[in-house]
Amino acid sequence: MAGVSEQSGIPTVDIGTVDRIAEELLGHSTWSPEQLLAYQQEQLKIFLWRAATRSPYCRRTIGDLVARDRPLAEFPTMNKSKLMEEFDRIVTDPRLTRTLVEEHVNGERCGELLLDEYRCIATGGSTGQRGLFVYDRDAWNVAAANQMRMQRLIGITPDMRGLGIGAPSPVHMSYRFSAEFRAIRPGAPTLFVTSPIEEIVAQLNAYQPDYLLTYPSLLRRLAEEQRAGRLKIAPRLFRSAAEALAPDVKELVREVWNAPVLDGYAATETGIMAVDCEHRSGMHIAEDLVVLEVVDADNRPVPPGTQGAKMLATVLFNHTLPVIRYEFSDLITLAEGTCPCGLPFRRIERITGRAEEILRFRTSSGGRAEIHAARLWFYLVKVAGIRQYQFGSLSDGIRIRLAVYPGCDPRAVEAQTKAPTRSLTSNWTRLQSHGERPPSLPGCIIPAAKYSSACACRYSSATEGERGGRKDPIMATAADRAQSRPLL
Ligand SMILES: [Zn+2]
Repeated sequence: MAGVSEQSGIPTVDIGTVDRIAEELLGHSTWSPEQLLAYQQEQLKIFLWRAATRSPYCRRTIGDLVARDRPLAEFPTMNKSKLMEEFDRIVTDPRLTRTLVEEHVNGERCGELLLDEYRCIATGGSTGQRGLFVYDRDAWNVAAANQMRMQRLIGITPDMRGLGIGAPSPVHMSYRFSAEFRAIRPGAPTLFVTSPIEEIVAQLNAYQPDYLLTYPSLLRRLAEEQRAGRLKIAPRLFRSAAEALAPDVKELVREVWNAPVLDGYAATETGIMAVDCEHRSGMHIAEDLVVLEVVDADNRPVPPGTQGAKMLATVLFNHTLPVIRYEFSDLITLAEGTCPCGLPFRRIERITGRAEEILRFRTSSGGRAEIHAARLWFYLVKVAGIRQYQFGSLSDGIRIRLAVYPGCDPRAVEAQTKAPTRSLTSNWTRLQSHGERPPSLPGCIIPAAKYSSACACRYSSATEGERGGRKDPIMATAADRAQSRPLL
């Protein structure tokens, strides 16, 4: 990245401290669910009290609730807009301001600590607004230790040669964690999802990782390279992050490497929240560090087995920027029952995608229907030749616009896409291919794909005819996900 100081890649965690915290967290794995819950509630109480005491915003919004020891379910929620708007009053160090943090992440020394204390992280704004977050040294150590603990839980030991291939910017979470953990594995190459595929293949061949952590879209591309004989690696384990993991990527990796792909759930605001165990029967939630509430549209809890309308996260370890009942639009279903692995942590059975990615449309018979865009893109990413795709709602169906890679025949790609997408949407699909780049929908911006290995896509949930002059909500792209979701 141009203008970034050489210092930006220097790790800032003390590995000894992180190791010690990770050991302590690993000890929680042997607890009973009741012990874990009791610990979580105790930590929550301490966290809320500290927030109400030290943060002017929290004092005003939750001070009374804390004083009366009310349950978390009665506390107000917050979202990214509120967090950014009230940033200067939410932080517990009055020296920190949104302007100062913004200047820091935009500056040449963005990879260094602000005020010699704070790790500043930015998100890409896939839901329309860029987020800025700060972790103090202690909180950053805990976030790194949690990452290490989760790795150990899934069988990744310190002696394994591991590698993460994530976002290229020093102010993104995945970059920072890769940099921190290179201190443990100094021989690991520095690769990003934007690196040319030839370079990725050459470096992986030279390094021969035992496990690899990256985006499903890159895993798909690497499987092609391995099949073609150019990539020659034999990892025992893959970790997927940052994008929704399509079932066929798991199958593909199993076919090509005879190795499992474990999924993870993380966000810049929270660090890693959940990870698959060896049984892959749902992702175990790090409930000793974060409280996850899966709720309906009115913030009432939904039971395991039922998909929530959103998720509220309370982060128990970042005291500098208290994140309390912070809204995520992820559509999450908690798992029922217990996992054979015996871990006390509850599990996320499924994350369907984000609420904004639901395409709602009217059918030709006047009825209303909806489909989550993931069902379509899981299919589209498998079609050779598609470079970008874009969904829009019509008055009687969905329009899918396609852009193809140079040298591909748009009509042939369209023909290949037609039958399956129509069957998924009960025939209410209009397909349009537009050569190498589709024209933008009115009010809908389509950036060029930032990452060569990832399809970029844009969705528009409003009906085209209803749009008028207003700007539509612009939904996540694979490339944006790379920026908004840390690769952990
Ligand atoms: Zn398990």
